[in-house]
Order: sequence, then C-alpha cells, then structure tokens
Amino acid sequence: MIGKTHKWLDKEVDLIKEKGLYRQLRTISPSGSSNKANVDGVEYLMASSNNYLGLAKDRRLVDTAIKTLKSYGVGSTGSRLTTGNTNLHKKLEKRIAAFKNDEAAIVFSSGYLANIGTLSSLAGKEDVILSDQLNHASIIDGCRLSHAKSIIYRHVDMEDLREKLIYSQHYKRKFIITDGVFSMDGNIAPLGEIKELAEKYGAYIIVDDAHSTGVLGKNGSGTADHLKVPVDVTVGTFSKAIGTQGGFVTGSRALINYLRNKARSFIFQTALPPSTIAATLKSIDIIESKLELQMELQQKVHLLRDELLEFGFDLRGGETPIFPIIIGNTNKTIDFSKRLEKEGIFAPAIRPPSVPKGESRIRLTIMATHTERDIQQISKAFYQVGKELEVI
Ligand code: PMP
Repeated sequence: MIGKTHKWLDKEVDLIKEKGLYRQLRTISPSGSSNKANVDGVEYLMASSNNYLGLAKDRRLVDTAIKTLKSYGVGSTGSRLTTGNTNLHKKLEKRIAAFKNDEAAIVFSSGYLANIGTLSSLAGKEDVILSDQLNHASIIDGCRLSHAKSIIYRHVDMEDLREKLIYSQHYKRKFIITDGVFSMDGNIAPLGEIKELAEKYGAYIIVDDAHSTGVLGKNGSGTADHLKVPVDVTVGTFSKAIGTQGGFVTGSRALINYLRNKARSFIFQTALPPSTIAATLKSIDIIESKLELQMELQQKVHLLRDELLEFGFDLRGGETPIFPIIIGNTNKTIDFSKRLEKEGIFAPAIRPPSVPKGESRIRLTIMATHTERDIQQISKAFYQVGKELEVI
C-alpha cells in the first residue's frame, strides 16, 4: 500500500520538517463572537481572517441560509449545466455583474476554480500570459493548465512588465494577470500603469479581486473602481469580505457565455448549495446599503498601521486590512505566532511556499467588527512580542 511498505512519502515529509515548513491543521470550533476563534479548544481574538467585514457569522446571513436550506435542501445535486442551476444562482450572477459594474457574471464553486477555469479556457498554446511574481497560487495553476507561455514579471515592476511585453509581441494573444490586492503583501496593483502598457502593447487585463471585493471602491465593488481603471476580466471570490463561499468572473456577455461553454472547472463542478448563494446575495445587500462598514474598516486600518510603524515593524501593505509583518526567519516567525497565542491573539505564521524564502511573516488582518479594545489588545501584544523576540 502506498506509504506503508515504501517509505518515500515519510521521507518527503521529513524533508519538509527539516526545512521548518511542516504544516499542521488547527481545529476551529464555534466561539462566542465573530471576532473570536476557538482554536483547538482555546478562545482567541481572531487577527488573521479574510472575513474583513465580519459578515461570515452575521445573523442576517445565517438566518437567510437557514431559511433557504429548509426549502432547497443541503446540496445542489449537480453541476450548473445539469441539475444544479437554481433561480438563486441566476439571481446572484445578475447581482454580482451589477455590483462590479460589468455586463455579465458567472459563478464558480470557488475563487480557485474561477481562476483556473478562466485562464485555462482563455489562453492557449499560441498565447502568452504575463503574471505578477506574487500572484495567488490559483493563478499560477491556471497558467500551467492553459498551455500558454507564462512569463512572470517582477512584483509590480512596470519596467519589467514593459520589457516582457516588448519581447512577447509575436504571441497571438497577450494577457496580463494581477491580483488587485496582493493576498500576502496587502498592496494594491498599479492598474493605471498596467492599463497604459496593455493598450500600448495590445494585451488584455485580468484582475483577481479576491481581497478587494467588499473592501475597496465605491460600495466595495473592487480595485478597478477604486483606481477608476476599467479592466477586461475580473475574477473574485465570496470567501473573503463577502463572508460566504464561491468564486465569480465578471466581464462582457461574450466572455461569460464563452466561459460557460469552455471552463472545465465550471462545467464539471457541482454547483454551490442554494443556501450559500442566498447568504451571498444577502451579504451584497448589506455591503451595498451600509457604506459605514468600509469606512469603519479603513479607520481601524489607519489607526493600527500608524502604531505598528511607530513601533518599528517591517510592515508592508497600504490601504487594505492586510498587515504583512515581515519577520524573515521561518522558525522565529513560528515562535512569534506562538507567543501571540499566549497573549490571546490568533495569527498564524505564513511561510514558504506561500511567501518567498526569507520573507516569513505574520499576516495580521483587521475586521470592521474589531472593537477599539480588540485593536488595542492586538497592538499591545505585537509590541510586547516584537520587543521580546527582538523583531523591533
Ligand atoms: N485569489 C486570491 C488572491 C486568493 O487569496 C484566494 C484565496 N486565498 C483565491 C484566489 C482563491 O479563492 P477561494 O478561496 O474562493 O478558492
């Protein structure tokens, strides 16, 4: 049996352990509030979730999901193209297109599947994809599946992108793909400059708006709106600020019609359960009607950012709720995270391959629902642990 008589699996895992990169699952149980996490039986203040607006446990979303579960059942029973396409799926697609100010939308079962489905069906053997060095893993995998030539340009380095576009002129179609907000660095892609280059060298722009949907732009509609730069294709997920689950793509009607017929991760995947779709619709209602949520989030982001910079942390990011605190050494980062737990804060260490070698970090994130006291607790804990481990 694989792994029992031949020990190569154990040996591979031992190698991962030697590099300090062994991954263990932590178990989350229900906890009292949306800002808390019960991890392996201990209650912590959550400081690393993608639930930026605190909507994942919102009563209104939960009630909507329960009501929908009672009428539609727990599973969707089939792919969107067979038995899984409910009126709610169609309604959400209309809604997300309007939310993103685009002609049409298609809902996938996750953001990961949306990226691999889009890239693998849009780009082919004769094409080139120019991809930012720090793009999400699902983009990297989508590039691999596409059979197109993929070229990585240095992170947000527009001169490098220009050079690579010049050398890519002989490809049939050219695509530039970038995260709108970089998941591990928290900075915003320079879409204006990317657009200038795309127009000059004839390339399409695809933006992964996973971390900006609900956070940036008017009503939280994302990076393109925030920077006022229209793009060709937007990919996103409901699993971050929206607080639910699932992925989407928005763009022209022709694009969406094409993806519906070509994207294998759409065609062959069981549709999302209707309860999730209904909760997502509710979440978008709340986000669009309650602009204070984004403002509250921004205020907290600025407050904490200024403090952490004053303490002397090597802090990346910018206007987003993602605070990458670079520690560098992997073991020291793990120690930092363990010490934070002793202070009642849950913020796991992020290590390679999620981030480049030598850039292990704590990915602290802020939620709109964090109270001032929560922010103070976070700030105090980071200062204390930072001093103790000589990070600051
Ligand atoms: N793109 C980015 C930038 C992400 O951070 C993530 C999730 N970590 C995804 C795509 C994948 O989305 P999902 O979790 O919905 O599969």
